[in-house]
Amino acid sequence: MKQPTSYELAILGSMQNKPMYQGTVDKNIVQKRRKKNKEARRLVVLRVSEVYASVQGEGPDVGRTTVFVRFAGCNLRCSGWPCDTQHAIDPAYRKEWQSMSVEELANKISDIMDISGANSITLTGGEPFLQNNDELYELINKFPMTIINCFSNGTLPYPKWAPELMTFIMDWKLLGSGENSVNIDTRIANIKLLDNANLLHSVKFVISDWSDFEEAVSIYFHYLEKFTNIEVFYGRVWDSYITDRDLAEAVMMNQLPWRLNIQLHNYIWPANERGK
Ligand code: SF4
Repeated sequence: MKQPTSYELAILGSMQNKPMYQGTVDKNIVQKRRKKNKEARRLVVLRVSEVYASVQGEGPDVGRTTVFVRFAGCNLRCSGWPCDTQHAIDPAYRKEWQSMSVEELANKISDIMDISGANSITLTGGEPFLQNNDELYELINKFPMTIINCFSNGTLPYPKWAPELMTFIMDWKLLGSGENSVNIDTRIANIKLLDNANLLHSVKFVISDWSDFEEAVSIYFHYLEKFTNIEVFYGRVWDSYITDRDLAEAVMMNQLPWRLNIQLHNYIWPANERGK
């Protein structure tokens, strides 16, 4: 064993000569501090752009009355075509956004469900997984008997619990969006997680032109076809020159087992009207 140097011995000696702490800290003060810190942790809030009832226009639950919870903020900036929820991602709208505790948001959702008769909740954004995951978990668990859909761009890692508690519609961003190359590994890891879950989840392609269509086909065969528990939806960017009919015919011609996603809400209300 290495012998301590005289310098180390001197330090050790001076430390041993130091008076030890003899006092006791008031236990009440410690407990009060702990309680305060715990409460402060509980005050982590969710950033919300808007909450409203409407008809689900996309995904497997199309047609249901649902309460949309639109979270504020997105990690992407789809520059290829205008994001249809600028008010949820652009800091210029920050003043509209509300910071809500889980309790406040859950109460608001319940009130809107009561008024509208909605029997489902849709978490969307922005990107819902920019929020604190613990708070999301707590929120979802407030509604154990309710169908919950989650629309997400899939480029942030999903927590393991999420695919068992709600149905995902993961929007795989294509070339036309300008964000097609972001975090591909994370998208694949998320899809593996979704595929292993007990609920049926889906991936959605929003197609702006024929290059997007070809990219979607290539992604499907390269990554998605092997996942048997994942459905694929396809639809057009709303103001694209491609029609629903064009896309449906191209999908059948290529014998793709995909489902058409027609953005029902845009046929009911003016396209991209807020709160619809
Ligand atoms: S991922 Fe969605 S919310 Fe985010 S910028 Fe793109 S279109 Fe907008």
